[in-house]
Amino acid sequence: MNTNENVRIHVTGNPADIRLFLNAIQEEAPPASVIEDVIMNETGHEAYKEFTILHSHDVSDDITEISPDIAVCPECLEDICLQGNRLNYAFVNCTNCGPRFTIIRDLPYDRAKTTMQEFPMCSDCRKEYENTGDRRFHAQPVACERCGPHYELFVRGIKISEAMNAIIRHVAQRIETGGILLIKGLGGMHLACDAFNESVVTRMRDLKKRDGKPFAVMFRDVESIKRYAIVSSQEEKSLLSWRRPIVLLVKKNHGKPLVANNVSSGLNLLGVMLPYLPFHALLFQKLQTSAIVLTSGNFSNEPILIDNGEAMFRFSDFLDAVVLHNREIHNRTDDSVVRIMDEKERVFRRSRGYVPAPVRTLLNTDGILAFGAELTNCFCIGKGRKAFLSQHIGDLQGLETVQFYEQTITRFLQLFRVKPSLLVVDMHPEYLSTKTARNFSGLPVVPVQHHHAHIAACMAEHHLDDKVIGVAMDGTGYGDDGHIWGSEFLVCDLTDYRRITHFEYLPLPGGDLAAEEPWRMGVSCLYKVFGKELVNLKLPFVNNIEVEKLGVIIRMIDRKVNCPLTSGAGRLFDAVAALLDLCMVASFQAEGPMRLESLADKNYLESYPFEVSQTIRLDGIIRGVVEDLTKGADNAIIASKFHNTIISIIFETVKDIREKEGLNTVVLSGGVFQNKYLLEGTITLLKANKFDVYTHETVPTNDGGVSLGQLAIASKRRSLSCV
Ligand code: ZN
Ligand code: ZN
Ligand code: FE
Repeated sequence: MNTNENVRIHVTGNPADIRLFLNAIQEEAPPASVIEDVIMNETGHEAYKEFTILHSHDVSDDITEISPDIAVCPECLEDICLQGNRLNYAFVNCTNCGPRFTIIRDLPYDRAKTTMQEFPMCSDCRKEYENTGDRRFHAQPVACERCGPHYELFVRGIKISEAMNAIIRHVAQRIETGGILLIKGLGGMHLACDAFNESVVTRMRDLKKRDGKPFAVMFRDVESIKRYAIVSSQEEKSLLSWRRPIVLLVKKNHGKPLVANNVSSGLNLLGVMLPYLPFHALLFQKLQTSAIVLTSGNFSNEPILIDNGEAMFRFSDFLDAVVLHNREIHNRTDDSVVRIMDEKERVFRRSRGYVPAPVRTLLNTDGILAFGAELTNCFCIGKGRKAFLSQHIGDLQGLETVQFYEQTITRFLQLFRVKPSLLVVDMHPEYLSTKTARNFSGLPVVPVQHHHAHIAACMAEHHLDDKVIGVAMDGTGYGDDGHIWGSEFLVCDLTDYRRITHFEYLPLPGGDLAAEEPWRMGVSCLYKVFGKELVNLKLPFVNNIEVEKLGVIIRMIDRKVNCPLTSGAGRLFDAVAALLDLCMVASFQAEGPMRLESLADKNYLESYPFEVSQTIRLDGIIRGVVEDLTKGADNAIIASKFHNTIISIIFETVKDIREKEGLNTVVLSGGVFQNKYLLEGTITLLKANKFDVYTHETVPTNDGGVSLGQLAIASKRRSLSCV
C-alpha cells in the first residue's frame, strides 16, 4: 500500500527469504526511486494467498514528495517501435519514466491534478493503469496514440501536419538543410539547429538577440559524444542518468568535422546532453547529423517559453518551423547543468530532473521562506526538516523573470502546503528578491550576509552544524561594511560569522558595469600597483585602450565617483583575463574567468608572490603578471601561475586560521569554485594537509544555492530564539 508518507508491505515467509526480499528492495529499486529508510516491524502471522496492492490512502496531513521528471526509459523506447497503439507515439511513459513535476498542478499526485487531466484514458491505457502486474500500473501520465496528447507542425503560422511520421521527417529535413526550429519539450520550448553548421548557429544567436552565452548540444548517443569530447566514466554516468542533465565536457580539438566553434563561443568546454524525450529519440532515428544545438526557446534573459500562443506569436515569423504539442507545461524547467569535478557530479543549474526533490537537513526549517540572491536566483521553502529549492529562476532583472519568480513562490507554497512564518533575504537592500519579501507583510524578516549564506548552504548540504572555516570565492555580495565582498575567509557556524580576512579592496570603476567589462578591473588593478605610470607599461592591454577612456577610469578612481570597493575574487579573475587580452568585454557571465581557466595547465607548478596580513595583498600577483607579459611569456603559463597563486593563498590563509582557531573543517563555496582547476587544486592541497574539506554537490556553489544557506541560518537562529 502507498500512503502519503511511505510504502507499507506485509510479507510472510521464512527469515532467510525475507532477508533476500529486503535486499532486493534496495538493490532492484527503480533507477529514479529514493529509498530513504527501511523500517521493519514484526507483526502477528498472517498467511497471504496472493500478491495484492491495497488502495492508497493518506495517513496524515503530511505530503508526499513530488518526483522530478524522468527521462524516457529503454522499455518505453521499445514500445514505440512495437506496440500498436504507441507506434512513433511521442508521449509514451510508464511508472519508471516520463513527466512529473512539469505537469503537476496540485497534490496528491493523481492524473486529475496534472495537465494530463484534459486527456481521459482510453480503455487500453486504463487496463494497464489498473493492472498491478503492468509496467504502467498507476502511471498517472499513461497515454497512447488514441487518448493522449499530440504534436503539431506549423510553418509560418499554418498547420502542416499532425502525423508524427511526417512531423519528424519534416523537422529532420529542415535541420539538415540549415533551418532553425522551435520545439516544445518537457519543461519549455527549445530552439534547435544543426550543431555542425556555423552559419546557422550565428543566425540562431542573432535571433535570440543574445549575448555570446554557449549553447547546449544534444548528441545522438555516448559514442558520438566521444568523437568530439573527452568523456570520463563519471561524466558518462551523469550523461546517461535518468536526470539527463547537460554535462560540461572538455572538447577534443582534433577529428573532423568539429562542432561549430561558435556553439560554445570558442570555449574549450561544451555543454552536452543525450536525448531524454521520445521525441528526441524519434528525431535522431531520422537525422543524419549526430548533434543538434538545443537551447532554451526565449529571447536573451527571459525565462524559457512554455505557452503555445506566445511561442507562435513571438517566434513563428523568424523560424523555419514550429513544433508544438497540446499538453500544457505547468511548471517551467530549464535543462539542468552539471560538471564533474574531483570525480563528483556538481550541479551548476538545478532544474529539470533535479527539482523539486528536497534537500534533507537536520534543521527544523518549517515555514521558512528564503528569497535567494539576484542573479541565477533560486528561492527555498522549508517544511519539517526538508528544504525545497525552487528550479533555476534566472536573473531577477527582466519583468518576465520577476513574474516567473513571484508565481513560482506562490505555487511552491501551495504545492507543499507551507504557510510562511519567517522570511529570509539577502542583506543587499536593492535586490529584487529582497524587495519581493515586502509582499508578505507582517512576517519577521531575517537579513543574511551573502557569503555567510554561501557557506551555510554547503554546511546544510553536508549536515554540518559546528564552527567551520568558510572560504567563499565569489563574484559579488553585499558586505557588512557596505562594500562589495567576494573573497571571504570566515569562521562561522549557522548562526553567525567572523570575517577573518579577504582580498584587499579595489575600486570597481562603473560598479555593475565593471563585471560586464573586465577591462575596467584590469585598469583598476594596474592603477593600484603602478599609479599613473601604468600608461608607460609596454602592454598590449594598455595600448588597446583609448587614452581618453583610460583617463576617464583613472579620474573616476581618484575622485571616487561610481567606484564602489570590491574584494570579489571574480573581479580579480576578470582583471587578469583582461590583462591577457582574453576578454575585454564579456558577452556572457563569467566569460573572462572561464577563458582564463581554460588555459590553466597542471604541468606548470610556479606561482606569484603574495602577502597575507590584515588583508590579502594582491600587488605581487599584478606585478608578476605584468612582468611575465612584458617578457612575452605564454598566456597558458601566466594563467596557470595565477590559478596556483589563488590556491596557495587559500591554503596558507586556511592553515593560519587552523592554527589560531583550532578548527580543521573547511567549507568551500561561491561561484568562483565552478572553476575545476581551482576547486580540484584547492581540495587536493587541503586534503593532503589533513583538513576535512566540504564542497557543493547537489546544491549549486553559485548564487543558485544561496537561498538554502539563508534558510539554514534563519532556522538555526530561530531555534536559539535569535529572531
Ligand atoms: Zn518508461
Ligand atoms: Zn490510451
Ligand atoms: Fe554569490
